[in-house]
Amino acid sequence: AQDIVFDHVVKTYPNAASPAVDDLSLTVSAGEICVLLGPSGSGKTTALMMVNRLAEITGGDIRIGGRSITDHDPIELRRSIGYVIQQTGLFPHLTIADNIATVPKVLGWDKRRVKDRVAELLDLVGLPVAEFGRRYPSQLSGGQRQRVGIARALAADPPVMLMDEPFGALDPITRERVQDEFLALHERIRKTVIFVSHDIDEAVKMGDRIAIFREGGKLAQYDTPRTLLKE
Ligand code: ADP
Ligand code: ADP
Repeated sequence: AQDIVFDHVVKTYPNAASPAVDDLSLTVSAGEICVLLGPSGSGKTTALMMVNRLAEITGGDIRIGGRSITDHDPIELRRSIGYVIQQTGLFPHLTIADNIATVPKVLGWDKRRVKDRVAELLDLVGLPVAEFGRRYPSQLSGGQRQRVGIARALAADPPVMLMDEPFGALDPITRERVQDEFLALHERIRKTVIFVSHDIDEAVKMGDRIAIFREGGKLAQYDTPRTLLKE
């Protein structure tokens, strides 16, 4: 895993009167889960999407493992970073196995390696390939689809994962379960994770550290859940 440093990061969208993210500086330590918590419109998604250059920075710098994201080609950067969103973005016309294989195939892995990796990943998220590999996304429950989304994000073993309200669309019981599963998975794989949420209970549960955003894209506090709860 690698650390992620936001160094005086600013994002102002074209024609916007004020920045969506305003002078954000924080360090996400390698292997930690950092939750970005705050009200809608406070810049969490924008902060997240600058890391894989889905949104381009307008000031400051982001470094992953010491290297500026501007040193990377944006497309290669996106392939090298796991990305999980609320509506998983699985390809509906591809099987679960083929969905997970997308990035490894683009990277030119040979067939055997891709196949082994797909089986390994589905195992990791508790969906055995024999049972689930040939199904289509529409044949899975919401929780199962999110697990596939996580498996797909991990396909090329990225050092960093970005998760944007990944469990936001799930019913409360499934959500609890998938949160627990993800924490157990994280114990094993120890990726550096940035996790956007607007739910304080989720932030406290999932975060090694919580970055609290407020209106105007400003960072109000950055600390461990334990310290924040004491205040
Ligand atoms: P959330 O509040 O859950 O982060 P939003 O509904 O604000 O989600 O945004 C959903 C998507 O729409 C995001 O990809 C975001 O970048 C985009 N978006 C949000 N606000 C605007 C806007 N004012 N103009 C264009 N796109 C926007
Ligand atoms: P959050 O994730 O906390 O809901 P966002 O990062 O989605 O916040 O949005 C922060 C601000 O930037 C909001 O005012 C939103 O309307 C604006 N915004 C987000 N995406 C875009 C976009 N693509 N174009 C213009 N404005 C945007």
